Amino acid sequence: MENNFNEKLREYARLTVRLGVNLQKGQELVLSCPVECAYFGRMIAEEAYIAGAKEVITIWNDELMTKLKYDFADSEVFKEFPNWAVEQRLMYARRGACFVSIAASDPDLLRDVDPARLRDASIASNTALKEFYDYTMSNQCAWTVISVPTERWAKKVFDKGDDSVSLLWDAILKSVRVGGGNAEKAWDEHVETLKRRYEFLNDKQFSYLHFKNSLGTDFKVGLPKNHIWAGGSDVTQSGIPFIANMPTEEIFTAPDRNFAEGRVVSSMPLSYQGTLIENFVLDFKNGEVVNYSAEKGYDSLKNMLESFDGAKRLGEVALVQYDSPISRMGIIFFNTLFDENASCHLALGKAYPASIENGTNMSEEELERHGLNNSLTHVDFMIGTPDLEITGYDEKDNPTPIFRNGNFVI
Ligand code: ZN
Ligand code: ZN
Repeated sequence: MENNFNEKLREYARLTVRLGVNLQKGQELVLSCPVECAYFGRMIAEEAYIAGAKEVITIWNDELMTKLKYDFADSEVFKEFPNWAVEQRLMYARRGACFVSIAASDPDLLRDVDPARLRDASIASNTALKEFYDYTMSNQCAWTVISVPTERWAKKVFDKGDDSVSLLWDAILKSVRVGGGNAEKAWDEHVETLKRRYEFLNDKQFSYLHFKNSLGTDFKVGLPKNHIWAGGSDVTQSGIPFIANMPTEEIFTAPDRNFAEGRVVSSMPLSYQGTLIENFVLDFKNGEVVNYSAEKGYDSLKNMLESFDGAKRLGEVALVQYDSPISRMGIIFFNTLFDENASCHLALGKAYPASIENGTNMSEEELERHGLNNSLTHVDFMIGTPDLEITGYDEKDNPTPIFRNGNFVI
């Protein structure tokens, strides 16, 4: 039993290195790893060296240390993000390293922290790391985000005492298709299915999509000319395929930053800066949020929308069917990596330049002229439900059903 579990972890680590960032011989790998997940970080490092990595560089983080800082440090501290930490990432990015991040945190950790401190810290880090994020968002280097359970996170998800961690491991391994035989083969098939769907949508070049469900979402969103749907596998600018999120179930593109009309109702809690925003409503006009409310976490929602230019406009529209493996587990993970892959979602903030033809060669001004939103933030939130209908409309306003009853009909 124990051996079997270790073998699965090993397979997951191998998938991360070989399929996730698709590490090339002689390449450097930068690993961001919570201290609690060190055992798995070491497995990734070992697999990376076996695959021919030149060096694995680890950036450790400790959320309890972060919490202490939020509770006790001088408030000036949060207005600054150190240059050396920016340079650390940029130096390796410029040299063509690939990046693995392990996303694992206690969703309630920062619940009682002063929102002004959280806002200052996110403005400082997003501003300082802009150049680095540009590397990843425009696929100049291969990167992947994966997850590993931590005790506090697992207890929040399952509330089953000491069993929670192994339950969360089971769910994570299932979501990344490990344990059911040949995981690499399962991923190949999965990537093919996503490709068939995004190619259909790329051919159609819909002018806009209409989303509607009984929760209250009734919303139209425009798609820019020559938009590109993508999903599953990405390709770096130098031609190396990689998978930016594991798991991933979405196909996505960039919406027109000036065309979003109507009401969007969230269908899952959103973990933002260590607090949960629940049951929130956004009203859009001419592409912009003009009204918003939330049953819980209103201050966080306000922070999210008001802290950055461009945060009130959309940068991503993503389709995930209700019958996806993660969604079928019926678990709220309180972690965007999983929750966004259980549900159709939108993102406020920056659009991916690769979502439009030739976009990775365009300046920010050109991208904006072509309808892609720019911002220092990008936050996904879920809107999918079992009764969600999505209809695509072409230039002549002819409808094509894309989703009925929460699932693809294409
Ligand atoms: Zn997404
Ligand atoms: Zn996103």
